[in-house]
Amino acid sequence: MKKLLGVILSTAIVVSMMAGCGSKGSGSSGSKSAALSDGVLTVGTNAEFPPFEYVGDDGEPDGFDMALIKAIGDELGVKVVIENMDFDSLVSAIGSKTDVAIAGMTVTDERKQSVDFSEPYFDAVQHVLVPANSDISSYDDLVGKTIGVQLGTTGDFLVEDIEGATAQQYTKAVDAVNDLVNGRVDAVIVDSNPAGVFAKNFEGTIKDLDGADFGFEVENYAIALPKGDSELKAAIDGALKKLKENGTYDELVKKYI
Ligand code: GLN
Repeated sequence: MKKLLGVILSTAIVVSMMAGCGSKGSGSSGSKSAALSDGVLTVGTNAEFPPFEYVGDDGEPDGFDMALIKAIGDELGVKVVIENMDFDSLVSAIGSKTDVAIAGMTVTDERKQSVDFSEPYFDAVQHVLVPANSDISSYDDLVGKTIGVQLGTTGDFLVEDIEGATAQQYTKAVDAVNDLVNGRVDAVIVDSNPAGVFAKNFEGTIKDLDGADFGFEVENYAIALPKGDSELKAAIDGALKKLKENGTYDELVKKYI
């Protein structure tokens, strides 16, 4: 009996230690999210997606998403620390290396199995970049083509559904665009705003085609959050709402997009 009591007691101690250790993003113990309780919000991004995130002249991640998450951090009274990593590592890093991720990330059912999302903060659609002299202009024209995409993105997933098409995957969308310019791929599928930036950088060499004309659907960007941390979701959604109401969100759109 004494022995059994000892086992029960030590189990209780371990459980309470686990609850109190505040492991990144896992918590719903107490009223404040564990992700915020240390005063630091660690944010994953992939700074290869202008104008939402890119490496600025000072070598630090800059862009709309970076400014937005810092404004959210200010609202919540926490310091924002950015971790720059590959896009396809962002979801799995949440809860271990990072608290949340912001990276022009589209809300998808598949991602929702691993993470929760904030309220959406921006709409986009996939665009198709092609050489200026290309005759690709419709979905059917993409059949059997080699299409450059950024690994693990919604553009990448779209290519899986195009009959006979091959996805040439890159960790950086800009490398796909460079291969388009060099004639190594027939087209690049990438989100609307980065497509606009890339097309401008190669004006006259590549064309930027609206994916709505290819039947691609509108996508919603949101901040990816640890699954089940309802306090963090409420805090971030509340801050986002306030920034929309007080004009900060619109100022950031004007500045960056
Ligand atoms: N919106 C796309 C996605 O979520 C691409 C995001 C990105 O490349 N940063 O997959």
